[in-house]
Amino acid sequence: MKVLVTGGSGLVGKHLKDILPEAIYISSKDFDLTNIDRVHAMMDFFRPKVVIHLAARVGGILDNIEHPVDYLEENIMMNTNILKKCHEFNVDRVISILSTCIYPDVVETYPMKEEDLFNGPPTPTNFSYGFAKRCMATHIDSYVKQYNKKWSYLIPCNLYGEYDKYEEHNSHFVSALIRKIYEANNEIELWGTGKPLRQFMYGGDLARIIKYMIDNDIVDNFNVAPKEVYSIDEIANIGKKACEKDKIVVNYDNTKPDGQFRKDVDSSKLLSVLEDFKFTTLEEGIKKTYDTFSKEYHR
Ligand code: NAP
Repeated sequence: MKVLVTGGSGLVGKHLKDILPEAIYISSKDFDLTNIDRVHAMMDFFRPKVVIHLAARVGGILDNIEHPVDYLEENIMMNTNILKKCHEFNVDRVISILSTCIYPDVVETYPMKEEDLFNGPPTPTNFSYGFAKRCMATHIDSYVKQYNKKWSYLIPCNLYGEYDKYEEHNSHFVSALIRKIYEANNEIELWGTGKPLRQFMYGGDLARIIKYMIDNDIVDNFNVAPKEVYSIDEIANIGKKACEKDKIVVNYDNTKPDGQFRKDVDSSKLLSVLEDFKFTTLEEGIKKTYDTFSKEYHR
């Protein structure tokens, strides 16, 4: 079965390539997915039977706040173009990736289940990204209803891993933390209060789950997150320990935004179909990522 992966040059794409090297991995340099003619050319050339759609405009809080139009338009265009062309070229399986960032800002009961997705607006700090991703969920659900497709999506929590971006303007929290710990002499500064609660998953774990879905022909929509929920401050302490830099002092810049207070999700539906799946612990994942980052930092 020919498998095509969009977003192949990103964090998740590179982790997937480590365990699914036979697939075709596409970056924006190969085909700009916001351009429907390029998506048509890509599908016509490769004629895949399975599409793993990872590509997205992804970024941190500040970039989301400053560029809401870009997050909305680029994501809606990419997702619409991909789904329309997957239909036109008779792609059997589509697995798309949403995010727990798109869940309601606040709900009554945590952790959130898949059916909570539309129970309130997304958090203001990534409202446009959230709505664009929610549109993709509705779009896939609609193809399933109208054309009986074997298409589905996964909703992962925040990710980190060796292949993440580490530049200050576009890194995610754990990757930024790793870089700060590596570069620090005695102290580091983090945004916000340190109080928000988060689930973090090693990128390689999401890649293993995507592969499991294809190998076992599982067609359903799932939350994907380890059950542990930590405050930002607890994550900073786990990070210091994993990097063997316990003495570093963490300061918080309260003038910077915290983002959503919590968005933890329940993965019990997923765990009921995965046999014996073990998530990488946060300490273990940070250690692996830090080891690679510190080796590559001076290259
Ligand atoms: P990433 O590292 O930022 O990579 C984004 C990928 O999308 C890159 O391969 C990029 O190609 C591609 N892309 C962006 N714009 C494109 C365009 N116009 N045309 C074609 N390709 C384009 O993202 P990631 O962290 O691997 O995320 C993968 C998926 O997981 C995304 O859908 C994201 O929303 C979701 N997700 C991520 C996280 C997280 O914490 N990272 C959490 C939950 C869900 P270039 O390299 O050429 O730019």
